[in-house]
Parts: sequence; C-alpha cells; structure tokens
Amino acid sequence: MPVAPDIKATPTLQTLPGDDLRQIMWRFADRYDLAMLVQATRTVARGPVARLVAQGARNSHEWTPEKASLLPAFDESGITASFLDPQHGGFIEGPKNLALSLVAFELSWVDAGAATSSLAGNLGLAPIHERGTPEQREHYLRLAAPLKPGENRQQVRAAFALTEPIPFVGVETGMLGGKVRVVEWKEGQEPVLQVEKRGRFITNMGFANVVTAAVESDDKRLKGTCMIILEEGDPGTWDRGTATKKLVHQLSSTCDPVLNVRVPAHRIIGGYTVKDGVIIPRYSHGEMIEAVFRRTRVTVGLMTTAKLLSAIEPVIMYARRRFRGGEGAPGTPRYELGLQQKEDVLHRLVDIWATGEASASLGFAAARLFDELDPLEKQKDQLFAGRNLAGRAALKALAASQQQALELLRLSAQPAAARDEQRLKVLRADPLVQFTLLDSQANVLCPACKLWNTGHGANVMREAVSLMGGYGITEDCPGFLGQKWMDAQLEATYEGPEAVQRLQLSLTMTNELFLAQYKEWMTEMSRIASRRPGTGACTLATGMRLWRWTLNHLQNATDADGAKLYHKSRQSVTFPLADALCWLLAARQFILDLLELEEKGPANPALADGLPGFVNFFTDLCHVQSARAAGEVGRICAELVHGYNRHPAWDETSCNACYSAEELESLEGIIPGIDGSARACSDVTEANEPHPQKAGPCVKLTGLEAFARLRAKLDGCLTGARLAKDRAAEALTKVMIPEALDYPA
Ligand SMILES: Cc1cc2nc3c(=O)[nH]c(=O)nc-3n(C[C@H](O)[C@H](O)[C@H](O)COP(=O)(O)OP(=O)(O)OC[C@H]3O[C@@H](n4cnc5c(N)ncnc54)[C@H](O)[C@@H]3O)c2cc1C
Repeated sequence: MPVAPDIKATPTLQTLPGDDLRQIMWRFADRYDLAMLVQATRTVARGPVARLVAQGARNSHEWTPEKASLLPAFDESGITASFLDPQHGGFIEGPKNLALSLVAFELSWVDAGAATSSLAGNLGLAPIHERGTPEQREHYLRLAAPLKPGENRQQVRAAFALTEPIPFVGVETGMLGGKVRVVEWKEGQEPVLQVEKRGRFITNMGFANVVTAAVESDDKRLKGTCMIILEEGDPGTWDRGTATKKLVHQLSSTCDPVLNVRVPAHRIIGGYTVKDGVIIPRYSHGEMIEAVFRRTRVTVGLMTTAKLLSAIEPVIMYARRRFRGGEGAPGTPRYELGLQQKEDVLHRLVDIWATGEASASLGFAAARLFDELDPLEKQKDQLFAGRNLAGRAALKALAASQQQALELLRLSAQPAAARDEQRLKVLRADPLVQFTLLDSQANVLCPACKLWNTGHGANVMREAVSLMGGYGITEDCPGFLGQKWMDAQLEATYEGPEAVQRLQLSLTMTNELFLAQYKEWMTEMSRIASRRPGTGACTLATGMRLWRWTLNHLQNATDADGAKLYHKSRQSVTFPLADALCWLLAARQFILDLLELEEKGPANPALADGLPGFVNFFTDLCHVQSARAAGEVGRICAELVHGYNRHPAWDETSCNACYSAEELESLEGIIPGIDGSARACSDVTEANEPHPQKAGPCVKLTGLEAFARLRAKLDGCLTGARLAKDRAAEALTKVMIPEALDYPA
C-alpha cells in the first residue's frame, strides 16, 4: 500500500530568502559585478535613503539640500556609473538592463522616490545613449560620469521632458506643444534653432542641467518631430518651474519647467540631414521614445515588485507582536503568533508574497531578455547599414526573418530524425532570426511587466496596508507601507500609464511569432506539470490554452450587432485580454525560476540547509499564483466570449418551448424522474406563469462547446490549490525574521 507522506517531516521555510537564493532565481549567480552592485546599492538604500525617510524628508515637495545629498551618495556608490559604458566612466561591460533593474529594486525596497531620482537621470540620458550620434554619446555620457578625485568639471545631471501642460502630451504622445524653429541659418554654416518646451511633471527638473526634450517643428525648413538636447546656460529662458505638489516619490524632484532656448542644430539627438533646404532629423520623437521606454519600463515594473516583497517582514512582525504585553504569557499562541492565529491574515499575506515573487520573476526575465536582445539589435542595425536597408526595405527584411524564425520553430518541434538538421543549424546561427524571435518576446514582456507589476501590484499593496490595521495608514507604519502603496500608483502612471501598456500589448500579443512561441510555452508547462505537479503548472497550462482559444475566437467573432470584436477601437475587448495574458506570463516565469532554484540551488553550500524548505514553500506559492492566474483568465475570457452575445428573451416560440410543471407532474407517474431531468436541461413554467421567472430561456452554447469544456476543465485543475495555500500559510507562522531593520528606528 502506498504510504501517505508525513507532512510534518516535509521541510519548510526557515528564513526569508537571501541573496544566494535570489542570485540563482534571477540568474545572476555568475555575475560578481552585479552582486557587488547590489551590495553597494543596498548600503545607500538602507543608509542615507532610509535615514531621510525615517526623518520625514518625504513630507515636503521641495528639492531640499537633504534630498540633494543623495546624488553624491549615488555617485560614490557606483549607482550613477552603473548606467554608463566603461569608455564613458562606467564599470559594467555590455548591456545593463539587469544591472539597472537590480539597482531600482534595491532602492525601491526602501524608497521609490530615491530610485526615481537615479533612474530619471538615466532616462534623461537614454535618448542620447540609444540613438545619439557618436559625438553626442561621447560628450554627454562622459560628462554624466561621477567626478574623479581632483577632477574639475560640471557633472551632467539629466531630465527627460516629454509630458506637457494640458491639452498637449500626456498618454497621447503625438500631441506635441513643444516647438522648434530655425532662427538663423547662414550660408555654409550650421543652423541655429529656437526651442520652446513647457514641461509638466518633469523629474529631476529641480537640479538638471541637461534636458532631452520632445519637440515638433514649427518651421517649413525643419521636418517632423525630434528630441533635442537643451543645456542650462543656453541663451534664453531656463525656468525650472514650481515644484509639483505630488503625493508620491517625495525624495525625487518634480517640476513644470518653462524652457525657451537657442541651440545649434547638432543638438538634435541622432543628428540630421539636409535635403532641398530642409533639415530632416534622423529620428522622430516617437521612434526615440519607443527605443527608450521599451527598456526603462522594465525597471519601473520592478520598483513596485520591491515594495511588495519588502512588505512581508513588517506584516509578519506586526501580526506576531500584536497582542504582546497584554493577556497571554510568552509561549502561548496569543503571545507567539498574535494575529497569525487567524487564517485570513496568513492567507492574504501568502497572496501578497506570491504576487511579489511572480512580478519579480516577470520583471527580471524581461530585463535579462533585453540584455540578450541589445547586442543582437546592434548586429541587426550594422547588417542593415551594411546592406543599405532603411525604411520600407528594412521592414521587408525583418518580415523575411520573421518567416525564417517561424520556420525555425517548426523545425525545432519536429523529431530530430525527421527534420533538416542543416537548415536548422543555419537558422539558429542567423542573428536576424534570433533578433526577430527575441524581439517579439520583448515586445510583450516589457509592457506586460510594466502593466501587471505596477497596476496589479498597487492593488495588492493595498492588501499589505490593510494587514497593518490603522497603523498601515499612518506615517509611522513599519516599512512605510502606506506611502509605498501610493508610490506604486505613480509607477503605474509614469512612463506610460496602464492604458498605453494595454494598447501596446493588444498589438504585440497577436504577432504570429509571439503566438508560435506562446504555443511552445503551453507545451512546456504541461511537461513541467507532469514532472512537478505541485507547482500548479497544469492549471496554468489550461489557463494558457483557454486564453489562446479566446484570442482566436475574438479575432474572428462579432458582437450581437455584427460588429468586429478584436479591433483597436474596442479597448473593452483587447485590454482585458492583455490583462489576462500578463497574469499567465508572470505565473509562468515564477515556475521557471523555481525550477532553476531547484536545479542550481544544491551547488551552493550556503543554501544547503534551507534549500528544500525554500523549494517546498515556493512550490506552494507557485501553485497559489497559478491558480489565481488561471481563475482571472477564466473570468475575463468567459465575460468576453459570452458577454457580447445577446441574451435570448421570452417570445412566443421560447415560451411555448417550455415544459409546464403540471404536465411534468402528471407524466412523472408514467416516466419516473422526468420532472427532475426536464428541469435540469430545459425551462419549466409553474402554474399561471407565461414563462419561468428569469431573464429568458437558458443560453445555448452552440459553437462554444470547446470553450465550455476548457472552462470546466480549468475549474477542475484548481484541485489542490487551496491545500498549497494552507501549507504556505502555515509556513508563515514558523519563518524566522531577522532583527535588522530596513529603516533606522
Ligand atoms: C511624479 C511624476 C513624475 C513624472 N516624471 C516625468 C518625467 O520625468 N518626464 C515626463 O515626460 N513625464 C513625466 N511624468 C508624466 C507622466 O508620464 C504622465 O503623467 C503620464 O504619462 C500620464 O499622462 P497624463 O497625466 O497627461 O494623463 P492623461 O493623458 O490625461 O490620461 C489620464 C487617463 O486617461 C486614460 N487615457 C488617456 N488616453 C487614453 C487612451 N488613448 N486610451 C485609453 N485610455 C486613455 C487613461 O486611464 C489615463 O491614465 C511624471 C508624472 C508624475 C506624476
């Protein structure tokens, strides 16, 4: 007879996860430079930043000397230079998306305003970094490096100015009010431009000496839009504006500047050409924003993640100590566990923790993906430049490599013996094919992590606040959770609010190449499910199938009035479907990170003792998160699939189709059981009623049978999820909490 496992003997969580574990899960165990950067950033976060927060520096809007003291702290610790390439004064070779994400995570654990101060400087420089001419990069990036001892120059501190006073740029970045004109263009000389830019909510503007501004031409001699570099000291007006009376991120500076300066044309970022007497910027402001935000939005997503994970310790401590000093001596459950005796307190914290983990997994996966993509993108740009491919011709070349990427996926799925190995080798070695594959993933993962981590993260942060009772909404709340909750809302708003991310997802998630990879991911989850059923991978695989079925259905179906459902103007269809996908992607990545921990953890002796407990606990968290994700997907998909069909109403035919209760009663004597079975599958009218008391005849699911089957299967797949949650909740009552605080008392 099989013996039931002894649950009590199953190792469980002993301590909160430490760096060794995170390095494995987030895949930087082999990056000593990143481990050092994390330590250096943490020293600043839990030192000067935490002290400022504890002293109440968040209680003013102004950019004070105390807040400004963080800038040298960022410089000295390496935080500022982590954005820069070694030739410009940095110390990290190659792509830095993961590095910057780790910096943002560490700072936001303590205060996201401080993180934003650092990141907004990078954002200000990012247009130059991503699309600047070699001269612009050399000049501004080098000057952004912290000063070396004895060096005497002004360090560049940058701000990024896109948003404008109403009615101009906000979510819609095309409605530019900022203008650029040619004011002087002497024969054979460089044109001089007048740039007028009024900004709204511009971070770092209280001290920035360089602004990269989005402007539109107001002159026939200059084409389209561009981003342009403005410097403090340029002739004209450099009015920083008043400080924004924001409720969030108070350790960063935000103002509404008024800038009106004269600059040489070589400040146009990326350069320009002159054709028939017209200046043509190489990049429009839209192209620039796309190149910049697709990277920086990932880091913003991780800022909210850090808040969720930072909330675990204060919530546990508050709950455990809630009744100490009153009735109940040490050793009694009331004293030792306090509020943790109540199941709801534990279960809600499990949800917060699982969300935090899934959002970390998704965010760091996106950051790593961009690290892989960056060199491929450079290679692609070089290849295209070498072949003189631009504009339409470049798009055509990319479309061809998209087809090759699809071919690669088809070949990879075939059994080795039956496929053309030579062709497979060629496709795998083709950098354009690799670029297209990863690009299609990045186009989904970036908006997904910005949207889900911050938007859903902000909702879950509210749960953390609520677990602290009244304390949660005071300035004294341990972990400053109330402020973090509000801060999360800004993260959901800036660099493009949720609507922008949903809009982007609604386009990128329907890319054939992304969907082909998504199909592989469904199979991968099913395989994991058979090997590691406790992870909830099976539930997730079914949720993924349901989402895919629904997308396909909505792309082809119409509503009750015959209007197309999947259409860009129909945000009520495309946006919820984008939300549903995010749930799946986050839970999937969490499972993959757990498997990585399980596989690589044993090689690290520092983890040896606690590892089985971590693996078991995270397995349960994965299960909880997968079940929740699948549930959300089921709810959203069901509403979309059924919600646009008109409910049948009572008319003469449908009334006549009903059985009458009297009739059934009389038939019961002849056909025993007919009364019950007729009521189960048809409508029955009681005496003197024209039809049953409900909206109309029950809906027939003709054509939707496959959906109904998948949906029923999904519900069944939830089996065991609550047992996993019970186990995770129990673990929370045992875990040891460190005495070291994130903030000084
Ligand atoms: C503290 C802070 C710092 C900031 N820092 C910077 C900075 O450094 N540089 C910078 O350029 N900007 C910055 N911003 C601006 C920020 O990026 C914008 O506030 C944000 O992009 C939203 O623009 P908006 O406020 O004009 O919202 P609106 O455009 O008015 O949008 C309001 C809401 O309407 C809905 N909506 C609008 N358009 C659509 C649509 N097309 N489809 C569906 N729904 C829609 C959405 O729900 C949206 O959230 C900052 C903002 C704050 C608060």
